[in-house]
This record gives sequence, C-alpha cells and structure tokens, in this order.
Amino acid sequence: MEQLLYEGKAKQLFTTEDPNVLRVKYKDDATAFNGEKKAKLEGKGELNNRITAKFFQYLAERGIPNHFIKVISPTEQLVKKMNMIPLEVVVRNRVAGSLIKRIGLSEGFKLSQPIIEFYYKQDELGDPLLNQDHIAVLELATEEQLMEMKKIAKQVNLLLNEWAEQQHIILVDFKLEFGSLDGKILLADEISPDTCRFWDKQSGEILDKDRFRKDLGQVTDAYQEILLRLGGNEDV
Ligand code: 5GP
Repeated sequence: MEQLLYEGKAKQLFTTEDPNVLRVKYKDDATAFNGEKKAKLEGKGELNNRITAKFFQYLAERGIPNHFIKVISPTEQLVKKMNMIPLEVVVRNRVAGSLIKRIGLSEGFKLSQPIIEFYYKQDELGDPLLNQDHIAVLELATEEQLMEMKKIAKQVNLLLNEWAEQQHIILVDFKLEFGSLDGKILLADEISPDTCRFWDKQSGEILDKDRFRKDLGQVTDAYQEILLRLGGNEDV
C-alpha cells in the first residue's frame, strides 16, 4: 500500500512498492513568507512537475546526478529515496530578496562572484541563515558534505547560467536541496520558478514566484514561459 510520507507546502511525498523509490505529487498551492500568504494557482503543480523534470534531465545529461527518475503523470514524478539534509543551499548571482536587507546593495546588482548560503529548513525558526559552525554543532552535515554541496551548487550554477544565457534569461538566484544515498551527496527536491528567480533579459519581466509574492498577477503564465524556454511543452 502506498502511503503519504510527508506533505509540504507545494508537494506531497508518497511511498511506492519499491522501498528505494518515492512518488512526488506537485500541488497547485502557492505559499510565501513562511506560509503567511496562501493561494491555489491552477496548473502550477503540473508546470513545476514538468519544469523540474526538464532541469533535472538537463543537469543529469551534463554530469550532475540527481534524485529524479521519471515523470509518471502531469503532476507526478518518481524520485530516488534519500536521507535528506535539512539545509537549503541558496546560490546568488545578483542581489534580490533577503540579500537586499542583509548587505544593503540594490536589487539587480551583479555580484562579482556567486554567493552561496545555507539556511536551516525549520519552519518554526523561519528558515534562518546558518554558518558552518552552526551546521557542525547541529550536526546537520559533515564538513566534507558541505564542501561537496558547495561544489555541486557551483556546477549547477554554471550549467543553469548556460541555459539562461541561451534563453535570454537572467538567473538571479536559486535554492537547492541535497540528500545522501549510499554515502554520496545527491541533488534532490525541485528546480522550478518556485525555487529560482528568473528575469527576462530584454524586458526585465519577472518569470518566477516573485510574481505571487509581489502580487504581480499572471503567475502561471510566467511559469509556462519558463517551460517553453526549456523546450518542454509535450504531453506526458
Ligand atoms: P531569498 O533568501 O532571497 O528569499 O531567496 C533566495 C532564492 O532561494 C530565491 O530564488 C527563492 O525562491 C529561493 N528560496 C529560498 N528559500 C526558499 C523556500 O523556503 N522555498 C522555496 N520554494 N524557495 C526558496
């Protein structure tokens, strides 16, 4: 019997007959500001399922193994079961979001090198920023695992930037999550406009969840545009 293992703000996670495989179902729910703002956006689950699949396939083909196995329905995909590390790894190329308040530079400022940050996945604490000492004391990851996550995050940044350049998109920042499987660190979770900031290079138009956070409207239209630029509009 398949069981609901975990329900998050945007996804449900189910067991499957195979103990090494989980089924992820992407929901239409959108939340922001640690769940304070909520809405249902019809079609978002399907778009994020397809977009995440495209990004994970793109990365796997370029040497970044990840948990994605295959899409099994418009809103569902199978993934490898892993021991998740409770950290959000954020990579930033330009100033936006919470970085504006932290370092005082204006939105859109191009950073001289990517900034990588670790946040503690803890809703009750509001996902605080952690440094390596916090992570060591809390035993969330070993030093080697942190190094590996940073290395993979930088490679993912290079590859996503290559795609973004070709598609006339500015990749402002994004969030990754990792897990361990057989002693190896693997990229997991989701890569979608819910977890990245994308700006159209020509028009400056926002093509990500900031449309929801800032009440700009046409949220799923923007997600559809990202799917189009990933070359993925085919049916499953
Ligand atoms: P910021 O720290 O500026 O709010 O977020 C930086 C980047 O990481 C953005 O692309 C944002 O979408 C992503 N991000 C940070 N925290 C979360 C989170 O808890 N959930 C999701 N979906 N994305 C996040």
